[in-house]
Amino acid sequence: MVERIKARTLRKRVLKRIAFVDVKPVEAPRRIVQLVVKDPKLIEEVDKLDMQDLIEAEVERVGEDLVVKSLKVLFKNLEPFPIAKKEHGPDFLLRMRHLAIRGIRYPKIFYVEHVVTWSAIKHLVDEGRKRVHPPLIIASATEGGAILFPVDRFGERKFFLSESAQLYLEAMIFALGKVFSLTTSSRMEKSRTRRHLAEFRHLEAEAADYGFEDILDAQERLVKAIVRGVLEDEDASEIVKEFRGKRMDELDRLLKEKFPRITYDEAIEILRKKGVDIKRGDDLGADEERILTEDFEVPVFVTLYPTEQKAFYVKRVPDRPEVCYSADLMLPRYGEITTGGEREDDYYKLLEEIKRRGLKPEDYRRYLDLRKYGSIRHSGYGLGIERFVHRLLDLEHIRDATPFPRFYGRSTFV
Ligand code: ATP
Ligand code: MN
Repeated sequence: MVERIKARTLRKRVLKRIAFVDVKPVEAPRRIVQLVVKDPKLIEEVDKLDMQDLIEAEVERVGEDLVVKSLKVLFKNLEPFPIAKKEHGPDFLLRMRHLAIRGIRYPKIFYVEHVVTWSAIKHLVDEGRKRVHPPLIIASATEGGAILFPVDRFGERKFFLSESAQLYLEAMIFALGKVFSLTTSSRMEKSRTRRHLAEFRHLEAEAADYGFEDILDAQERLVKAIVRGVLEDEDASEIVKEFRGKRMDELDRLLKEKFPRITYDEAIEILRKKGVDIKRGDDLGADEERILTEDFEVPVFVTLYPTEQKAFYVKRVPDRPEVCYSADLMLPRYGEITTGGEREDDYYKLLEEIKRRGLKPEDYRRYLDLRKYGSIRHSGYGLGIERFVHRLLDLEHIRDATPFPRFYGRSTFV
């Protein structure tokens, strides 16, 4: 049976009597198909092909082989494709991202990212959560202004790009109960770690009538649903296997075991025992998080952080007000993948905290209104999609988990 295939050439090997061409079908460019060419005229044609030329071929299946019967070049490169087989430096490849994503590796990463995102959304919708669309142009910060990207003057005042949708989701629970959003958050991160981007895809959820334990459980269900979704997708699980080598049992354990929960104080104790110079009240940075999670085989929640370390809106523990209902979920040998917690729902306590931190109550008038008019207990969390993919695929750098990364120190954008 003769089939027609439209595809992009990837590489070729031309011998005297036979040629092999690896192509990527237009419909599914992440799958590589090998074509076999035996006709001397067609071998000549193949010899002229450049990487990424678009071809249309009639092929016949002969045993295991797809033998080419006819070949037409639909779009020929106007110049040789700039990314050749030879090793290129990271800077060149970043400048060429718009073409590099046609390669062999990137389509696999972005396919897994698609499955991760879709599994998350499907899970949340199946649980009855409603997707909402918060704005990205904002007037005041969620957590203080240092990391906000200013938008050039728009009318009489300056605005910023959103760094979290949380405050808007908190308003939306009064409309729809349990909500989530998937938006782009922008943060002027100048530290340049392997897990920070200046722009990332942020999955945030907020739920009315939800307490601290409820929101921990919700995050555990979400992470398990994402991993299950990836493992159930034949292509995605194949790719994950390829990228992670043999480390798949970790994912099976993640699905089966309950995620341990330790307090911040216990985390400090563990770190001290491991010889880290740290004391209560200190921040857990990326290094500490990695060391802390070394001994855990499944994700672990670190709960009840010092109030001073977390945002003004986190609810304090009533009989221990120096700590608050905030938790970070940490992946083994990696660190933070989500932050979540219960929000302060009392008008007066929230107002007091805003003032105590030197913030301006008038900047938070609408946020305070949510508590002024029939408040409700509520909780939420945020998860970074690129971070999830970074760790899931054991990528060298988070910037490979997004097609067009933005990060500090790089001003030429593709
Ligand atoms: P970190 O302490 O690692 O800088 P954060 O505590 O500032 O993160 P949150 O405000 O808690 O981040 O955001 C929720 C989630 O969004 C994080 O747990 C992480 O998965 C993701 N995230 C936050 N900042 C970034 C970033 N710069 N790049 C990629 N993902 C991020
Ligand atoms: Mn956090």
